[in-house]
Amino acid sequence: MPVAEGPVGPALGPNLQSSESGMKQKQQIKHKIHPWDLVEDTFQPEDYSLNATLFSLGNGYIGLRGTFEEGFDPEPFTDGCYLNGVYASEPITYGESAYGYARNNQRMLTVPDGKTIYISLDGERFNLAQGELLNYERRLDMAAGISERKLTWRSPKGKTIELKVQRLVSLSEKNLLAQQLELTPINFDGEVHLQSCLDGDLAQAERSEDPRLASPIDRGDIEWLENTAEDGYLALPLSVKSSGFSIRCAALHLCESDSDYTSNNLRSEDCVSVDYRFAARRNTPIRLTKYVAYFAQQNAEPISAGELHYYLERCAAKSFADHIETQRIQMDNFWLESDIQVSGNDALQQGIRFNQYHLFQSLGRDGNTNIAAKGLSGDGYDGHYFWDTEIYVLPFFLYTQPELARGLLEYRYSILDAARKRAREMSIQKGALFPWRTIGGEECSAYYPAGTAQYHINADIAYAVRHYCRVTGDVDFLRNKGAEVVIEGARMWLEIGHFNALRDNQFCINEVTGPDEYTALVDNNFYTNLMAKAHLEYAVEVLQWLKSFDPAACDELTQRIQLGKQEIDNWAKAAESMYLPYDEKQGIHSQDDSFLNKPRWNIAETPADQFPLLLHYHPLVIYRHQVCKQADVILGLLLESSEFSIEQKRRDFDFYEPLTTHDSTLSACIHSIIASEVGYPDKALNYFQQVARMDLDNHHNNTQHGIHTACMGGTWMCMVQGFAGMRLHGNELNFNPYLPNGMDGYRFRLQFRGRTIAVDVDSYSARYTLVKGEALSLHHGKQILFLETPGQTETIQIAPMEEVS
Ligand code: BGC
Repeated sequence: MPVAEGPVGPALGPNLQSSESGMKQKQQIKHKIHPWDLVEDTFQPEDYSLNATLFSLGNGYIGLRGTFEEGFDPEPFTDGCYLNGVYASEPITYGESAYGYARNNQRMLTVPDGKTIYISLDGERFNLAQGELLNYERRLDMAAGISERKLTWRSPKGKTIELKVQRLVSLSEKNLLAQQLELTPINFDGEVHLQSCLDGDLAQAERSEDPRLASPIDRGDIEWLENTAEDGYLALPLSVKSSGFSIRCAALHLCESDSDYTSNNLRSEDCVSVDYRFAARRNTPIRLTKYVAYFAQQNAEPISAGELHYYLERCAAKSFADHIETQRIQMDNFWLESDIQVSGNDALQQGIRFNQYHLFQSLGRDGNTNIAAKGLSGDGYDGHYFWDTEIYVLPFFLYTQPELARGLLEYRYSILDAARKRAREMSIQKGALFPWRTIGGEECSAYYPAGTAQYHINADIAYAVRHYCRVTGDVDFLRNKGAEVVIEGARMWLEIGHFNALRDNQFCINEVTGPDEYTALVDNNFYTNLMAKAHLEYAVEVLQWLKSFDPAACDELTQRIQLGKQEIDNWAKAAESMYLPYDEKQGIHSQDDSFLNKPRWNIAETPADQFPLLLHYHPLVIYRHQVCKQADVILGLLLESSEFSIEQKRRDFDFYEPLTTHDSTLSACIHSIIASEVGYPDKALNYFQQVARMDLDNHHNNTQHGIHTACMGGTWMCMVQGFAGMRLHGNELNFNPYLPNGMDGYRFRLQFRGRTIAVDVDSYSARYTLVKGEALSLHHGKQILFLETPGQTETIQIAPMEEVS
């Protein structure tokens, strides 16, 4: 595949310097620009933690950080292997507690590390911190779904080896990770010692003031059970007392070499290993293939020792090359539907693919797990799931692999009982309140002003159900699960809001926090009220639909949850009279009742090293100013797009953009999309350049703790909803595409109601092709296009987007 070296595209516009803190320091591009691969071609010890995130591998269940087999840990948080949905529970300690505070944290567990293989040459330990590295290359091959490291190293005593290690976390076998190590002595005959471990000395995070980092593990919470180490087979079972998880991990080794060797097994309470000692000869390769399996069960019988062993034997019956081949087939299928191709800009192409690849690796696929803010690449935010899923990540899967999107919504259904319980704790008598952050369903936000107070999560989930059902037409899901999630979530609004006599009986919602976490506990947050209105309307619509589609199911549901006509009438009334704060004088939406009364934060004069503000100022100092961490009003304009005119959107954008620090990675993507819509293509591109390479170039300086999955989903949204201007109006797709500077063209596919559609844009035209499925009509601006048979393409001429002054 072609490799190009070069800059990311046009430089950042000077007009952005004052408001975009994240953009103030232009980040260095650390890896070679390549459209399909991430390549580290010189070893940079100072970037070890960062690369541990970027080169991490996963399959939605297992996540493995890209640390070295032989170790190189300058910092304790660097390493990690995780299982999606598997956590330890720990009481949250408050200095001063109060009624209804979240009681327990659920922390994604670091499970025993299966990749470790220590290497010694005649007693000298192989370690990149010493000796001489004669050549080095590490590659994450996003087309193949594997990582590979190749190097030549000379030990301090002059022994030279070549080493090649390939690793994959299987996309076809949920429980499997596999790696193959090949070592060749170049200039010596002597003893090569490989010690391959299952190491339960779990990585330990340190306490920090940064709320985005993981909390430390209580090691006393782990019970180590009887382990096994015999004939190259290792098994290390454990249970987690606080959460009731039984974890079973095991490793099976295959050793191939023309050199003689002996093997020996070692065991301690929390580590099992097999030692291979080779009478190695120069230019005679030693190859060790290691298959590692992970299984976990909560409060249920775990896989038996025999079944676990059998599982690994079955996996090892297939050659490593076969596993690589199967992995590529899985990746081919993924890319066929998901790839966004950009011509003329390999740096953006690399960023887009990198982000899509990591989303695919991070996504829980079983309906009981979800996608964490940091995916499975690091334990930042303790591995919690947030609203990031529904608003930022789900659209990508919905339009490329809808069955995976369905799994995300099924997860919400699976925690509905926990959400009902939380509602009662929060004095809400009926329905459910979904947790702001969680893994297993329990609310884990220890800081309620930026956590539990974000009631909008209920509306975000309902929005995602509506979006999913409109795009897929999946009535089974709506009837069996979606309706209950929407309806139980909607009931809360009538309890936390009220018809306010002082505001002409409009429906008001007090004491909430919107998406912008630099403004907390306010009355009538615009985004919350707007989304609550849409939620209530949709709840009424869903009930009417269910009543006619499946009256028995409707009766069963309404009786079970004791839902009466009066309550439904109240929803309609509240939706109709929802108060949306608006400032007539300026012609803009007010973010909440108090926002416009506050003094502006002087972003331009805030030193660059004081961002993100959350790490440098007490929350109260931030809250009393007009300053936004992230898109709030602007996000509402996107999600309920058809409710607002372009002029309105532009006025709101002009007002809020200069007040936004983008200290959250959820912000720049939304600004890019609305900038595209209101006629600011330069801004749209500038934001997008940061979004697409957010983690690759470590723009927020915290990718070492994990990727930013919401921003990765936002990358897809910028391309499809921003540059291609796609919106779903009713049940119809609308496009309004343009070609941004710095690209020669772009193309992508979409799944829509059983069809596959291809969209292809260059500087002259937009082409729409029906690839598969029945005839459909779609909109290009004001034009209606009919695509009747597969293969049919409609081409429309487009003009360059004019910058609105
Ligand atoms: C953002 C939230 C987001 C969370 C996890 C925070 O910085 O403000 O909106 O849900 O990160 O990504």
